Amino acid sequence: MKLETLAIHAGRAPDLATGAVAPSPILSTTFARDAQGDYPHGHIYSRSSNPARAALESLLAALDGGTAAAAFASGSAASMAVFQALAPGDHVIAPDDVYHGTRTQLRELLARWGLSHSLVDLTDLDAVRAAITPATKLIWAETPSNPLLKISDITGLAELAHASGAQLVVDSTFATPVLQQPLALGADMVMHSTTKYLGGHSDVLGGAVIAREPDALFARIRDLQTKGGSVPAPFDCWLLQRSIGTLPLRVRAQTANAQAIAEFLAAHPQVSAVHYPGLSTHAGHALASRQMTGYGAMLSFQVHGGRDAALAVAGKVQLYTRATSLGGIESLIEHRASVEGPHTSTPQDLLRMSVGLEHVDDLVDDLRQALAG
Ligand SMILES: *Cc1c(COP(=O)(O)O)cnc(C)c1O
Repeated sequence: MKLETLAIHAGRAPDLATGAVAPSPILSTTFARDAQGDYPHGHIYSRSSNPARAALESLLAALDGGTAAAAFASGSAASMAVFQALAPGDHVIAPDDVYHGTRTQLRELLARWGLSHSLVDLTDLDAVRAAITPATKLIWAETPSNPLLKISDITGLAELAHASGAQLVVDSTFATPVLQQPLALGADMVMHSTTKYLGGHSDVLGGAVIAREPDALFARIRDLQTKGGSVPAPFDCWLLQRSIGTLPLRVRAQTANAQAIAEFLAAHPQVSAVHYPGLSTHAGHALASRQMTGYGAMLSFQVHGGRDAALAVAGKVQLYTRATSLGGIESLIEHRASVEGPHTSTPQDLLRMSVGLEHVDDLVDDLRQALAG
């Protein structure tokens, strides 16, 4: 079945008891035993499993072509579970431009727990090969990456990981299952911050790990989810399921807007660089064309005049909200270096945009006036 169909039908059927077409979240934390002491509906206690999460997990597994999914209370809880499923003494390779929250987990939380890591340019397979040690158990990729939209080769990374007995997990948040299918490209697991495009409306926090095989690593992730307890509430699972029905449409429309905006910016005299894989000048364009079915709705650009000029542009836009995060229906703009703090390697003249679903003419006009003068 095609993704548009799965997004609406996977994990969803009319309710047998009432005939209700639209699902409703079952809020109960506990489930009744029958007279024999069994649980005829399969659920016991909501931390272990509940109907709304089970429906969401079936849907997420179907979208990424996996066999199983674990939904979490946030993307950060999902990445944390992947890392904690490794053992102290293990080594992780992650991109040098990894999402700053993931970097903080590796540096501050997991280093103390005995997990070591190397931050490597994942677009350079030779550099990755050189960074692999006998203790390397996981390559964590993020493609497209934040905020330079770098593209790394999922199949090449999977081959490197598997040749050394490690696994490849791809943070595919920017791409969504609509534009990129990491499991089909050889990855072992996919991670999403469902807070972003899957939620799509900037009103629910969530995360997910989807596995190609229900292997030992995934079993430990499932244990961390249900016993560690960082689970999403039924209402949040229901909101996500509701949003995912329109995910393919939203992502494609947002991508079309982003392409037009990237082309407008690339031709603007005040703009010194545009980072968008849909531009033929982008270093990852050819690879993105091979491994993605679209280039996504995230882009960043640099302006002449340094940090002050970038902040001035962000100050003048009317339609783009100055806010962090991404993937919602509304367009956002952000001076990324300010968010990432004093240790950031993000250029000070860079602005990152999450392109929404407004009319593209209005989005371009707003940037034009903000860049003028
Ligand atoms: C937002 C984000 C995360 C973290 O997800 P939360 O839901 O905010 O915890 C991880 N990776 C990427 C690429 C993200 O954009």
